[in-house]
Amino acid sequence: MNFVILCPICATKYTNRQDSCSNCGSSKGAIFVHPSLVKVVTLLIKLGVGVVDTGIKHCTTHQNKISIYLSGSVPEYLFTDLPSVWRIKDSNKLYCSDIDRIKVIKELEEWAMDKDPDGFKALLRLSGYDIGQ
Ligand SMILES: [Zn+2]
Repeated sequence: MNFVILCPICATKYTNRQDSCSNCGSSKGAIFVHPSLVKVVTLLIKLGVGVVDTGIKHCTTHQNKISIYLSGSVPEYLFTDLPSVWRIKDSNKLYCSDIDRIKVIKELEEWAMDKDPDGFKALLRLSGYDIGQ
């Protein structure tokens, strides 16, 4: 599995081991993202939601358990309109278990694309969430 390495602040793709981001200069630890989650993680970062890690596990039941680990505690009320298969767990994990990985990831991408980044960031800040940007 080749993970894609992204800057956690601006979602710029790292091409090699870098100490800091060539785009925003951040030296925060890069995140390793499963290739199928790069788009949605990038969208989440643009909304101000910090991402620290991702994981996809395949089970014998053919279910894909998809986890996107978020930084800090996100205000869960901003995620009540998530696509039905997605949940926020423990205020810091976007989680889904489904057979059709492509479809559910696309649904989450569409949810994130529907949001206005500036508006969403403002709501996160109002809730006291550290968006780190
Ligand atoms: Zn950056």
